[in-house]
Amino acid sequence: MFKINENYKNLKESYLFTDIAKKVNAYAAAHPEQKLIKMGIGDVTQPLVPEVVEAMKKAASEMGCKETFHGYGPEQGYAFLREKIAEYYLKEMNVKLDADEIFVSDGAKSDIGNFTDLLDNDNVIVVPDPVYPVYVDSNVMLGRKIEYIFGNEKNGFLPLPDEKTKGNVFYLCSPNNPTGATFSRDQLKVWVEFALKNNALILFDAAYEAFVQEDLPRSIYEIEGADKCAVEFCSFSKTAGFTGTRCGYTVVPKNLTCSGMSLNKMWLRRQTTKFNGVSYVTQRGAEAVFSDVGLKNIRKTIEIYHNNAMIMTDTVKKAGIWFTGGINSPYLWIKCPNGMSSWEYFDFLLNNCQVVGTPGSGFGKNGEGFFRLTAFNTTENTIEAMNRLAKIY
Ligand code: PLP
Repeated sequence: MFKINENYKNLKESYLFTDIAKKVNAYAAAHPEQKLIKMGIGDVTQPLVPEVVEAMKKAASEMGCKETFHGYGPEQGYAFLREKIAEYYLKEMNVKLDADEIFVSDGAKSDIGNFTDLLDNDNVIVVPDPVYPVYVDSNVMLGRKIEYIFGNEKNGFLPLPDEKTKGNVFYLCSPNNPTGATFSRDQLKVWVEFALKNNALILFDAAYEAFVQEDLPRSIYEIEGADKCAVEFCSFSKTAGFTGTRCGYTVVPKNLTCSGMSLNKMWLRRQTTKFNGVSYVTQRGAEAVFSDVGLKNIRKTIEIYHNNAMIMTDTVKKAGIWFTGGINSPYLWIKCPNGMSSWEYFDFLLNNCQVVGTPGSGFGKNGEGFFRLTAFNTTENTIEAMNRLAKIY
């Protein structure tokens, strides 16, 4: 009889979004006259910008013509895209990367999950709580030991290591999903120095870097020494609306080594063995994000979400609700008022203002008593939802 990976038995079922859907459907059936506003969505709602669509159409036409057809592309991604990403890092963040330190993929989720291939199962994996669940589950699948570092009201959901912190591999996400909290340069410096001192690896998720408006780091490589201890995952999903188109990239610096092995070479080997690249059409679309007009237009889209987030932060500030996020992130993480639990507050908002959000307890123990609202909605809906919320405070 064949044997399965028994570690899958240790995965916790996530009922979060099913439970939300059940409650929402039951409410909608009982109150068909009420307009529900969904602010739990973690997906973008604005379409691709025209430059991306045009580039993809052109690339699709090339694929239909013998002279310009493309078969298998480079596993690491076409140089035209990797060079544009490197230019973007230099121009936007003053970070110098070689194009061959950048690996194009079908999104950050796959890379975050796949990067576990490079690491021994003996590592102690440290993830923040509350957390984007992929960091946890992709390691539980391999039977790895997971430790948590706690985000809370006191540390603004931006936990830092101290002398008692143990572990070899640390997942960080900034701007954070679900809390929207964003590390300052000094805070990231603490993490980088800790990792260098302890020979630890930081897996840095920068999926929301394009939302940073304040003078805060958008890449971990803005911090000196990070090229020796960190890998960075990024994505076109939230930057440019590619959630359905699928494209992301991972930066593995050539200076990052362990036991005499280059992680850049190991990742290249892993990708060339198990991955056959992202479609030419998609990569041409992603390249168009970096044209002058492309960048201007994706920023206009992000501005819509920022504006929504501002409407949300104004409302919760006026209501005297404690929160993180919103400014540099599409997520607003609010403290449930009057000591309500996350699910009590979910019911309260659903019943009293027909607004649907995500209970923070679904992202970990430390999310209990907190609630996530997202700016991925129309401005009209955001205004209406916040007007309803303001009335009940
Ligand atoms: N990382 C974080 C923190 C996310 O919130 C998400 C998506 O919601 C991803 C990664 C996945 O991004 P992608 O669409 O590129 O797979």
